[in-house]
Amino acid sequence: MSEERKNARHKASMEKQKAKVDANIEAASEERGVAVLVTGNGKGKSSSAFGMVMRALGYGQKVGVVQFIKGQQLSGEEIYLREHCPQVEFHQMGTGFTWDTQDREADMAAARRTWALARPMLENPAFDLVVLDELTYMLAYGYLDEDEVTGVIRERPREQSVVVTGRGGGAALQAVMDTVSEVKDVKHAFRAGVMARRGVDF
Ligand code: ATP
Ligand code: MG
Repeated sequence: MSEERKNARHKASMEKQKAKVDANIEAASEERGVAVLVTGNGKGKSSSAFGMVMRALGYGQKVGVVQFIKGQQLSGEEIYLREHCPQVEFHQMGTGFTWDTQDREADMAAARRTWALARPMLENPAFDLVVLDELTYMLAYGYLDEDEVTGVIRERPREQSVVVTGRGGGAALQAVMDTVSEVKDVKHAFRAGVMARRGVDF
């Protein structure tokens, strides 16, 4: 194909795409907070959530973050938020995870204590964005009541956005979310024997 023809085809395809996007923009008339679930087996769920935290902070919005798993290992996002963003309300479950503790009762109690910190944020219109990192596991293990959690997400303040991360996340959770993205695991460095990397993986 000649360059000229390639250019013409590209232009036509771009015009078509633009028309589609413009129509979607035209059709979107509702302004409110959104509920986003980032799930799947690939890497990038929590880092996506923290990307949204950065966006929200850029606009001076009020952000809350609750992490439902990573109790004992420190992460770059935690260090940064604690040191540089005192305006962000940050909580962690603060206990190791089940294959460390092997104590279901204790895990369940920790999950409920942590949910008791998350819930008031989801009821407080002052928060623009609330991140519930790794929440899906709490539902999958039955540590938290799915009806209660989905109900609170559904009934949250109209302007508030919420981001949930974690593998799985059942139909009831998906039903209450506006946007659901699945990160697919195509390849992961870990399986080639590369260690988790500071600044990339934690
Ligand atoms: P990240 O925090 O990097 O965005 P994630 O939230 O999508 O990852 P988690 O299941 O929470 O993934 O796991 C967190 C850690 O596990 C990270 O160090 C990440 O690199 C690693 N990880 C994520 N997906 C995989 C995978 N498919 N195989 C091996 N390790 C993974
Ligand atoms: Mg994660």
